[in-house]
Amino acid sequence: MSQTTTILRICLLLLASLACVLAQQDYYKTLGVSKSAGESEIKKAYRKLSRKYHPDKNSAPDAEEKFISISEAYEVLSDEDKRSIYDRYGHEGLKQHEQQGNRGGGHHNPFDMFSQFFGGGGRGPQERRGPDMQVRMDVELKHMFVGNYEEFTLPRKTLCDHCRGSGAASDSDIHTCKTCRGAGVTIQKAQIFPGMFTQMQATCNTCHGKGKTVAKPCPHCRGQKVVQSDNNLSFYLPPGAHEGFEMLFDGEADESPDWDIPGDVLVKVYAHKDAEWRRKDAGLYRREIIGVDEALLGFERNLTHLDGKTVRIARPGTTQPGHVDVIKGEGMPAHAHLPHGDLYIEYSVVMPSSVSDSTRDALEAVFAKTRSNRHRDEL
Ligand SMILES: [Zn+2]
Ligand SMILES: [Zn+2]
Repeated sequence: MSQTTTILRICLLLLASLACVLAQQDYYKTLGVSKSAGESEIKKAYRKLSRKYHPDKNSAPDAEEKFISISEAYEVLSDEDKRSIYDRYGHEGLKQHEQQGNRGGGHHNPFDMFSQFFGGGGRGPQERRGPDMQVRMDVELKHMFVGNYEEFTLPRKTLCDHCRGSGAASDSDIHTCKTCRGAGVTIQKAQIFPGMFTQMQATCNTCHGKGKTVAKPCPHCRGQKVVQSDNNLSFYLPPGAHEGFEMLFDGEADESPDWDIPGDVLVKVYAHKDAEWRRKDAGLYRREIIGVDEALLGFERNLTHLDGKTVRIARPGTTQPGHVDVIKGEGMPAHAHLPHGDLYIEYSVVMPSSVSDSTRDALEAVFAKTRSNRHRDEL
């Protein structure tokens, strides 16, 4: 970081503190957690958001400002004393607390805080990250039309609570590997020519490179270090969301002691096949079946739209089989790159399976008349 950027960051920091007095942020909202959130939830929110908005990673003009707000919120909510003062007396209470010369008076540098959190300046590249996970989710077309709060559960491996991922029944059951003396590797001597040796490093077979052995495995996870659990996730599907709409859940993939942060879960949303409605981009398609009488004499009918609203269709004249009516603005709502769509109704005409004698006679009479008219016109 050059000196100018450092100065710039300090200026921004001061500005942000000033802005905070003018428009005070709700720390819970900033971190996106509830008032009852526990320590780990707050940590998780900070981990996720601070990485997302760190100015080294995010070039958006307001990223730095957001990053500073997130740090400030975390500083208060991660400190039990400050949090309880904030809960009871708000920003004013915190200010008084600081003026009384209590510890942590003034703000910590958000960049130092970030470095500390991620372990002594370790950010990004030094973190070991678990594999990402991709999930396909099928929802009702109706939900894509009106929008919906989607909730779902995914199986997830989480670190065992009992052994905190060590796999041992207790801390005293973890021993330094006797074979490699904790190095995780052993040096093996190999003879390449008579009297000539080479040293080769190999992963220790006893501890598999961990440098530690477990005398008594954890009874809760049976030494597996992780347990199978349910991950309840939710998100808001906006009205008009396109097919393949993506939702990223940062760090919600499997946990493991082998990596520092879990990978992400990417959910892709598609609509179920619907019996009545079809969707293509922003357009909605539907087939209406009409009788011969309706095709000839015209008709009116009400359709119930995906959101339950009534759409009236009226065709006063004749309707050819396969005719398509376009109803403007009744397609999918606008979303992202897709504009507001139209509704397309295609008519199918069904013939009666049989005709009674009296109907037949009446039709004969009508058609005889049209035939003779046509004949006269042709002459
Ligand atoms: Zn070993
Ligand atoms: Zn365990």
